[in-house]
Amino acid sequence: MIRGLFVGRFQPFHLGHLYVVKKLLEKVGELIIAIGSAQYSHTFKDPFNAGERIWMIRSALDAELDPRKYYVIPIPDVNDNRIWVAHVESYTPPFQIVFSNNSLVKVLFQEAGYDIEPSPLYKRELYCGTDIRKKIIGNEKWEHLVPENVAKIIKEIGGDKRLRGIIKKDYVYDAAEIDSNNI
Ligand code: NAP
Repeated sequence: MIRGLFVGRFQPFHLGHLYVVKKLLEKVGELIIAIGSAQYSHTFKDPFNAGERIWMIRSALDAELDPRKYYVIPIPDVNDNRIWVAHVESYTPPFQIVFSNNSLVKVLFQEAGYDIEPSPLYKRELYCGTDIRKKIIGNEKWEHLVPENVAKIIKEIGGDKRLRGIIKKDYVYDAAEIDSNNI
């Protein structure tokens, strides 16, 4: 049985991620969904904490997939790329293949001897975490871009208000300012 690793920040987990997870589970017996940057929350880039992200992912996947097929594991970042692969391994069961499109992630796992495959892209122009966060802030429709249970959770935890509060711009939506401030 082959176990694969899929790393992302999942801010938030959207329909593109759901498609990717389903596709990857056609290739491997079990999938580890590693939540990167797990120590962060309450920023524009990472508004949801690790537990909230685990809740969103499990709520979305349990509705469609056998929960014995996947693990959802939070991985805090470490300020040293040389030890990141060992750090990931210290949180996960063994895996044989890594799915990623992130060039740094690919280099680090390749150097550690892992097989790497690109993770499939699905309607990237539509499903993009940054754009979804901007839509939430801008009071645009975003609910159709995430699994139904994820939209419910974001509302239940006040995630929409949190995002607007973080940037303190709930009356003006200025994407350029958000980007330039990197918040
Ligand atoms: P990420 O920061 O989650 O994603 C980077 C970009 O790629 C995002 O725009 C993301 O879109 C997009 N993306 C990711 N998977 C995709 C897919 N299958 N299809 C389309 N777009 C996709 O980066 P990541 O590679 O997914 O996750 C890497 C994680 O590992 C981060 O948390 C990073 O901090 C961590 N890391 C840590 C270290 C260290 O601590 N030293 C070293 C390397 C990596 P969405 O926003 O829509 O997902």
